[in-house]
Amino acid sequence: MSNRVVIVGGGAAGFFAAITCAEAGGHVTILEKTGHFLSKVKISGGGRCNVTHACFDPRQLATHFPRGERPLIGPLQAFQPRDTIEWFKRRGVLMYTQDDGCLFPVSDSSQTIIDCFIESAETAGVKLRVNAGVESITRDDTGFTLTLQSGETLQADRVMLATGGCRVPAMGALAVSLGHTLEPPVPSLFTFHVDTPWVHELAGIVIEPVEVAAAGLRETGILLFTHWGVSGPVILRLSAWGARKLAGLDYTFPLTINWLPRRNAENELDARRAENPAKLVVNTPIAPLTARLWEALVLAAGIPRGTRWSELSKALRHRLVQQLVRTDLPVTGKTMNKDEFVTCGGVRLSELNFKTMESKLVPGLYFGGELLDIDGITGGFNFQSCWTTGWLAGNAMASA
Ligand SMILES: Cc1cc2nc3c(=O)[nH]c(=O)nc-3n(C[C@H](O)[C@H](O)[C@H](O)COP(=O)(O)OP(=O)(O)OC[C@H]3O[C@@H](n4cnc5c(N)ncnc54)[C@H](O)[C@@H]3O)c2cc1C
Repeated sequence: MSNRVVIVGGGAAGFFAAITCAEAGGHVTILEKTGHFLSKVKISGGGRCNVTHACFDPRQLATHFPRGERPLIGPLQAFQPRDTIEWFKRRGVLMYTQDDGCLFPVSDSSQTIIDCFIESAETAGVKLRVNAGVESITRDDTGFTLTLQSGETLQADRVMLATGGCRVPAMGALAVSLGHTLEPPVPSLFTFHVDTPWVHELAGIVIEPVEVAAAGLRETGILLFTHWGVSGPVILRLSAWGARKLAGLDYTFPLTINWLPRRNAENELDARRAENPAKLVVNTPIAPLTARLWEALVLAAGIPRGTRWSELSKALRHRLVQQLVRTDLPVTGKTMNKDEFVTCGGVRLSELNFKTMESKLVPGLYFGGELLDIDGITGGFNFQSCWTTGWLAGNAMASA
């Protein structure tokens, strides 16, 4: 029986599936629309490629995916970061782990990953075609017919769609034409615009830990002030979990910040007053708040610069506590994170078999990568989802 496998999309998921499938005996062709393979891998992680994350418990790992958490548990049990590290190691690519758990190739260059993929694909006999955009796909009893933008047609027994995130619904058109549903795309992983002037003046300052809340969601972690608002891991996480809700609010909503989430603000202020009655409130910050942030919060609470701790009235003390535990900042827009951005939305997960990544609607059709309604927070999770879904699909297509 022939097993002509065509993978549409020469990105992370497409390559991982192609190599897996070809090494398991499939006759695989990758069709890539543009003139270059793996262009997102190239720019990933600021050119270093954050390949995966040092989290080796599949259930724990799955919690890093705002979309796809439950369906991914099974696949991650089959192929997880430990397998990714081993997969690359067998091919001579070694990784190192940063303090934050992110893994990178020791070369610190995404080109190492690209070279590894191209070489592994060629060795396994994968046919690689660029400038081969697929215009349409039909299926009948004999299999699939793919029509390229050039007009050329190809036959396949199995087809995998790995065409990447759908920033606009048209990018999911092939899946929809075959009967699949697209969850509407909205951005994930973005930073917030805040017009409050004192926020801009603190650009570059990092505070940890803070608790941020918006639209009924809450996250704790590192916050970074920027020239246009707030950013940092805690904001990116909030944007990812709130991607759909915040889009629904047109990125205009109140953000509440607790600057002392693990402390009792009232006790901290009382201790300061007892220790430094004669000092100016504005000059005696509470750690971990920096002097400039403290000053901004004291002034935002309406406390005059010349106020000493011993002179702080009950009313002003109360306002300072409020500032410390719930500063309200009006968010007026978003900016995409320049290091990593992904799309929330994509092919509906209930339409797929997560043991094989095969469509439940169209036998012989497989999916992988960001085209699915799966997205992770920053840290190598999005690539791990590509490796995991690509590996499952590749094996399934080889043995189907
Ligand atoms: C700047 C940036 C940095 C990132 N850094 C990281 C990181 O360090 N770690 C991490 O985990 N994630 C990172 N991500 C996210 C990660 O890059 C993506 O999740 C991942 O690349 C998705 O892979 P994919 O194979 O699903 O899709 P893609 O990589 O987008 O590949 C899809 C391919 O399909 C092709 N294609 C589309 N339509 C057709 C068609 N009709 N016919 C033929 N070909 C077609 C496209 O041209 C493309 O080459 C980053 C994203 C960005 C934008």
